[in-house]
Amino acid sequence: MRRISVRKCSWERFLDSKHGILDPNDAISRMPETVLHRIISFLPNSDKQHVRFLSRKWRRLSAQNQNRLSLTGRRLSELELSKIMSDDFPSVESLTLTKCLGIKNLKLASFKLKTVNLDYCRSLKTLDLNTPFLESFHFHGTCVRPCRIDFGICNKLRILKLAGVALYNMDCNISFPLLQVLSLSSCDMSGCINISSNSLKSLYLLRIKNPGDITIDAPSLHFFEYRGNTVIPFLNMHFPNLDWARIELKPSRYEKRNEEWFNGLINMLKCLKSAERLMIHTNSDKNIIVPKGVRETLVPPFDGNLDIDVKTSSRSSNVVDLSDSMLWISPRVRRLYFKSFNWEFVMQLDHQDLLSGTHDNSCSFCSSYTSRCWRHSVTHYSLGHSMELNYKEMVSYLVENLEKVGRDAMQTGRILFSI
Ligand SMILES: [Zn+2]
Repeated sequence: MRRISVRKCSWERFLDSKHGILDPNDAISRMPETVLHRIISFLPNSDKQHVRFLSRKWRRLSAQNQNRLSLTGRRLSELELSKIMSDDFPSVESLTLTKCLGIKNLKLASFKLKTVNLDYCRSLKTLDLNTPFLESFHFHGTCVRPCRIDFGICNKLRILKLAGVALYNMDCNISFPLLQVLSLSSCDMSGCINISSNSLKSLYLLRIKNPGDITIDAPSLHFFEYRGNTVIPFLNMHFPNLDWARIELKPSRYEKRNEEWFNGLINMLKCLKSAERLMIHTNSDKNIIVPKGVRETLVPPFDGNLDIDVKTSSRSSNVVDLSDSMLWISPRVRRLYFKSFNWEFVMQLDHQDLLSGTHDNSCSFCSSYTSRCWRHSVTHYSLGHSMELNYKEMVSYLVENLEKVGRDAMQTGRILFSI
């Protein structure tokens, strides 16, 4: 029943049947449209939505006042869409087309549009935007037949989400000076990509294809997310004010975790070194346990205080090995949290730097950075495991490592997990 009523009041239905005959007894509907618009303007917003149920005439009037238009699965040409936008829905500020086929070359020209969402409109070959007040643009296409998008002047654009698009060049400072959110998903980035933006706050690079020469300079960036099946050494990325980074690494089981893999991983993490919180989501502990031999040739990527959350799909994780690797990656870690299918582990470390000038030169971290590694700075620690596993081994690991440098630290209690 409900499904039928939704279908009856959809705008697709209206577009199909708008040339209906007016009821001769409907005196109100015969009033001039300007008067009817005036009547509608006095109604509360919730009631404005309902006048379209009165008759086709009221539905047309309601359409003219709509600021949102969403069409799904409709076959229409560019001319038809342009007519719909100008004649039937002239007030639309938010346009969503989902799986609408038939349009090959689309020119959207509007001074009203603030939001445009184009999802799976696979016939699109070119898109020209003449929408100077556009604030949010989302495009989901296909890399197999990428659509060419000309943004024209989009000085007001704040949110840009592109999926399945081939990118060749991008300078956000010039094209989108107010851009705050940029999401590139399954995009072919084999060209020379230069993303430079002073306003960008959040950046998502998700499953990018053919990562070529990518340079990103985003001094205001607070959040960065990368998802992929391989590591990309972000050598030319500049995020000096990053707060929060999220890395999802899900390589195939045949991917080699050799020196090249870990060099790439460490270089990737180095670009995120100003972050205060790092989340790693991975399908195997092997991807993030840096081998001892590799550690001897590299410097830990993080030197500041950091909280690390690791979500792993490994069924049998060794908490000591995982902690050991994370403590090498970030020797100033404050909170370490692991989550697997059926267990959680957390460890908290309190650091206190001793007087400078007494750095232990045998410690590669302390001799490379101004701050001290956890072995030379931890004063208190606490830890807990939801299944009480590896607890003793972890305490022994901490005590032994501190003893090696002639120190000890106070255990401040066991962290308990609520069931
Ligand atoms: Zn040290």
